This record gives sequence, C-alpha cells and structure tokens, in this order.
Amino acid sequence: MGITLAIVGRPNVGKSTLFNRLAGKRLAIVDDTTGVTRDRRIAPGHIGDLDIEIIDTAGFEDSDNGNLNEKIRQQTKKAIKEADVALFIVDARSGIVPLDNFLANWLRTQEIPIILLVNKCEGRMGEPGLFEAFELGLGDPIPISAEHGEGLADLYQALLPYSKTAVKNTNCTDQVTENGEVSNQIQIAIVGRPNVGKSTLINSLIGEDRLLTGPESGITRDAIAIEWEQNGQSVKLIDTAGLRRKSKIQDKVERLSATDSFRAIQFAQIVILLIDGNFMLEKQDLKIARQVIDEGRILIIAVNKWDIVKNRKRVMQKLDDRLRTSLPQVKGIPIIQLSALTGENIGKIMPTAFEIFDIWNQRISTGKLNHWLMMMIEQHPPPLKNGRRIRIRYITQAKTRPPTFVVFSSRGNDLPESYRRFLINGIRTDFNLPGIPIRILVRKGDNPYVKK
Ligand code: GDP
Ligand code: GDP
Repeated sequence: MGITLAIVGRPNVGKSTLFNRLAGKRLAIVDDTTGVTRDRRIAPGHIGDLDIEIIDTAGFEDSDNGNLNEKIRQQTKKAIKEADVALFIVDARSGIVPLDNFLANWLRTQEIPIILLVNKCEGRMGEPGLFEAFELGLGDPIPISAEHGEGLADLYQALLPYSKTAVKNTNCTDQVTENGEVSNQIQIAIVGRPNVGKSTLINSLIGEDRLLTGPESGITRDAIAIEWEQNGQSVKLIDTAGLRRKSKIQDKVERLSATDSFRAIQFAQIVILLIDGNFMLEKQDLKIARQVIDEGRILIIAVNKWDIVKNRKRVMQKLDDRLRTSLPQVKGIPIIQLSALTGENIGKIMPTAFEIFDIWNQRISTGKLNHWLMMMIEQHPPPLKNGRRIRIRYITQAKTRPPTFVVFSSRGNDLPESYRRFLINGIRTDFNLPGIPIRILVRKGDNPYVKK
C-alpha cells in the first residue's frame, strides 16, 4: 500500500500541475474514467520507489459565490479525510495571501501531517515567496516547481517517514527525475577553452566504453552527451568539445565554445573546468568559473598537460593566488593536476566528483544549524545598525543543490555583506562543505516557529 496524498491549497497555486506530474502517464486513464467524483480527482502515481495515491481538490476559480473560503475549506476537509499526508501548496510568485493563511490556520487544527510546498520556485523569482512561507508556521517549506519538475527529490525525502514500503535509501546521490523516476545519474560537463585537452581527456576517461547518445535536444544543439557507468554509478558526460570536432569553422571556435559551455553548465550538476597548466587561469577561464558558481553548480578545476609543466610548484602557487583573489566566494575548490595524454591522475577525477556531489546533496538539520548559529553569534556578534545591534534569531536550510540557507534577522537585508560572508565561511568550515557554492538568504523577522 502506498501513501495517500491530498493536494490542497487555494486556486491557481499549481495543484493540478503537480497532480498531473505525479500521476504521470496514468492520468489519461483517470480522466476518462467515469465515476471520478466531480469535486476531486484521484490517481495512482509514484515518486521514485514510493507508490502514492494522489487526491486533487478541483478548483473553484469560476465560483462567483462570495463564500469561497468556506467552500474550499469544505472540499479540503473531504480530501484530507481520505489521505495520510496533506501537501499544502502555496505560490512563491504571488506570495502568501489571506486565503493561504486561512487554510493554514485551519489545517493546523487537523490531525493530518502537513508538508508545505512552495510552488513556482524555478529561477530566482520565487525567493521572496519562499521566505514568506516560513511564516505560515507549518515547518520548513519545500521549494518545488510543479511545471519544471524541480524539488521532487526533496518531496520524496519528506515523504519517506510516512512510507512503510519504500526502500529507505540513504544514498543521497539518488535523485528523482522530472517523471518521478529515481535516477542516480550524475551529470558532468567538461568545459574549457579550445585546445586545453577536453577531447583528449574524454577519450582517456571513457576509453573504448564510449557510448554516444548523440546530440541531445534540450541540452545543446551541439554538445554531445555520453553516458557510461563507473563503479555502478551512472554518469552522463556533456562533451562541449564535440562541437568543435563536428564543425569545421575553426575561426569561430572561441565564441562558440563560450556560449556552448554556458549552456552545458546549466544542465550539469558538476562542471570540470579544464585549464592548460602552461597558461594559468586566464580571463576566459575565470569567466566560466564564475558562471559555474553563479549557477550553483559544483566546480572542479583540472589542470591539464601536467606532463609538460616545467615549474610545477610555482604553477600551483600562482593558481592558488588567482583563485583566492578572483573567486573568494568559494573556498576549497578541488584542483586536480593531470595529464590527459599520459593518463596521470585521470583516476582521481571521478572519485573527487562523486565525493563532492554527496556533499552538495547533504542537508544539515535545523537543530544543528541553530546550535551552531548561537556559537557563531557569541564568538562574533553581528554589528550595530543605527546604534542598535542586529539580531539573528534563526537559521534553516531551505534547499540543497546548492545548499541554500535562510537566516532570520531583525534588520533583514541590512545584515552587512561581511557578516553574511562570515556565516557562509563558517558553514563551509564547520559543516565541511569545501568548494561548494553556498547561498544565504536573509529574511527580516523572528524565528517563525516561536509563538509571540
Ligand atoms: P490549481 O488551480 O491549484 O490546480 O493550479 P494549476 O495547476 O491549474 O496552475 C495554475 C497556473 O500556475 C497555471 O497557469 C500553471 O501553468 C501555473 N503553474 C503551475 N505550476 C507552476 C510552476 O511550477 N511554475 C510556474 N511558473 N507556473 C506554474
Ligand atoms: P580540446 O580543444 O580542448 O578538445 O583539446 P584537444 O583534446 O583537442 O587537445 C589539444 C591539443 O593538446 C592536442 O594536440 C593534444 O594532444 C594536446 N594535449 C591534450 N592533453 C594533453 C596533455 O595532458 N599533455 C600534453 N602534453 N598535451 C596534451
């Protein structure tokens, strides 16, 4: 038996969209079935290895009856009666509106466990709404995008405690794809300027096992995806060098490879920036590196042609210096010196990637974070603002990939950049997240869970 989920929330937050996504292909059958009640739809579905049954409360958008709140509440009541868990959806783009509060207050009085989902969180437009959702007092909200299939892996994790049958998979590399399938595939892009050795590296990485899946629509017209397995781990490699091999327009290479690598970055989880050890981190390399960090991806720097680097020690020193001054926001980016040609250190790439991928997916408990926050504040209190000390009251991890934390502060965004950085660096060191882009969002307000 699976878990029965009631999808509840006011009209237009995306309930049907989530319902359709979770129900997958089977939906068509459901729609045609007679006997489907008019005020709600029920369909089987799955998220990863979790079997679920989903109850959707249909909309009252057209209702011109003044008593909309009451109607929705009645309908929600019916839906949750049959469910094990309520998925309460709010809309990140419109923010919390009175009807959300009305429903939240009522839901809180019910016996059913509630998972708070903030929908339409794709992109940065959803961040303010995600903040507001904390104030509903229904626990940490999970950001999702029903339309884009984002956040389902977090929903899966949140549902696990309610499942008797799910294989409680603690391997956090597991992810739930858009279609609700569990996939543990890691997507890696190898990017870098022309001639740094991308093709050579890919050839020596996968050798004869190469399985060309051809240009994939959606990723880039030109980049080529190669799928293979390494120690049981499925890997998809996005080979941006494929473009150049295919096109003969050598003079346009520089420009093409920049756009192409940018597109590859967006579709990868891990980006290996390959540089030539004889030409240390040039402007274009740094530009790519910044893009990787801005997109919240994992950056690994691979220094190629190590076999012909003359003064290895000096090169490493120079690289360290450049990283420290040019990319100060991320400390501890992994660096691998290698030779794609001789094979030296090639074997280090995948283990490094897998290891850092696990860290990237890690979630730190709210309890641990707040304990840590108290220590940090004691050690180094936030500064004064207009003569009054800024208070920081609460921190929680809003999402993984990249690790994103929400901090509640008395002065909201007036928290100085230096203090934000102090916290980011502290999280990086104390929770062991080297080389991982970390985001902190500061929200004005108190601990949302403490009753005033
Ligand atoms: P319902 O009334 O709660 O069932 O909401 P619907 O599923 O009908 O969605 C309402 C509107 O929000 C539609 O226009 C959807 O296309 C849109 N929508 C749903 N999910 C998302 C999402 O994840 N992101 C964005 N940007 N729009 C979404
Ligand atoms: P791409 O444009 O990034 O795909 O670069 P290629 O893989 O085509 O390599 C460009 C040139 O660098 C070729 O002549 C390679 O043989 C050479 N090359 C690649 N890797 C190494 C290496 O580790 N050591 C040396 N000495 N040469 C290399």
